[in-house]
Amino acid sequence: MSNTHNKIVIIGSGPAGLTAAIYTARADLKPLVIEGEPSSTGDQPGGQLMLTTEVENFPGFPNGILGPQLMAEMKAQAEKFGAVFITRKVSKVDLTQNPFKIWIGDPNETPPTHTSDALIISTGAQSVMLEVEGEKRLLGHGLSTCATCDGFFFKDKKIAVVGGGDSAIEEASFLTKFASEVTIIHRRDQLRASKIMQKRAHENPKINFLWNTEVTEILGSNSVEGVKIKNTKTLEETKIDLEGIFIAIGHTPNTSLFSNELLIDDLGYIKTGPNNTTTNVEGVFACGDVQDHKYRQAITAAGSGCMAAIDAEHWLEANQN
Ligand code: NAP
Repeated sequence: MSNTHNKIVIIGSGPAGLTAAIYTARADLKPLVIEGEPSSTGDQPGGQLMLTTEVENFPGFPNGILGPQLMAEMKAQAEKFGAVFITRKVSKVDLTQNPFKIWIGDPNETPPTHTSDALIISTGAQSVMLEVEGEKRLLGHGLSTCATCDGFFFKDKKIAVVGGGDSAIEEASFLTKFASEVTIIHRRDQLRASKIMQKRAHENPKINFLWNTEVTEILGSNSVEGVKIKNTKTLEETKIDLEGIFIAIGHTPNTSLFSNELLIDDLGYIKTGPNNTTTNVEGVFACGDVQDHKYRQAITAAGSGCMAAIDAEHWLEANQN
């Protein structure tokens, strides 16, 4: 692989990274996008939308679009304007001096594989998963990690949400707009969620709780048909029938490459802003789910990718001859 110097490198290729690529390519900055590579732990170029099926809430697609197709279209759009893609994972960065240094492959290799004047980080976040049988197979087929994205598909269905934090309670409450019944499956007998959210869930007639319960398998061949559960006190194992299940047991932002050099907030996300995508290192910008624990939508990620591109372009203009 040839070493390159670039005006701008974008790490990550979800909606944030690809939107940043489209904008910086159209600004003639010839971005290099290091898009990641598939791994056994679920990483993939294109980010979380690669794990979804129908996307109905991305503006511009009144008939919906498949997640992987949406990402392929965004990538094609970036390539059309001159973005160059490398399907590899970054193994190390050095942001102590500009130009920034980026390694792919062996991190002990010197010199770095690539250098750049400005850097956009859009490495996203991953939903924490249960790691049980059936989960990978049924993701996008009745198993989801995003109620806002997929709740609509569960009209009048009997579904469950796994988790006991604010996300699980918020998702369960939201899902009662669609589902006939929502069971919150939690591994303990106390919720971690804030008291006000708990109160709301307890008062909602469509929500019921299964306490001290772990999901041990997701059942169904082509779509979710139920789950195997185990009571953590009695160790009794049973099955329940379901038409959908939402996993809401937390998210892990992909920040490990940067945590020595960039400021990270209490929840583990890169600190940006206020009201822009700048980080504590001049010339380094972050966008999408790696810096957003609140909205986590493809369209908000894309919006912040556009912001990062414009912030980086302005920074390059002000700081380069
Ligand atoms: P969280 O607070 O870390 O809660 C994760 C929940 O998942 C916990 O109840 C945990 O159980 C459970 N869990 C973790 N791993 C599990 C596993 N392997 N199997 C089964 N259950 C598992 O995560 P979150 O709910 O995503 O919230 C993250 C942060 O965002 C929190 O600070 C939260 O307050 C905030 N947030 C706020 C709002 C809001 O205010 N509207 C909405 C969403 C999130 P245990 O309780 O037994 O550990």
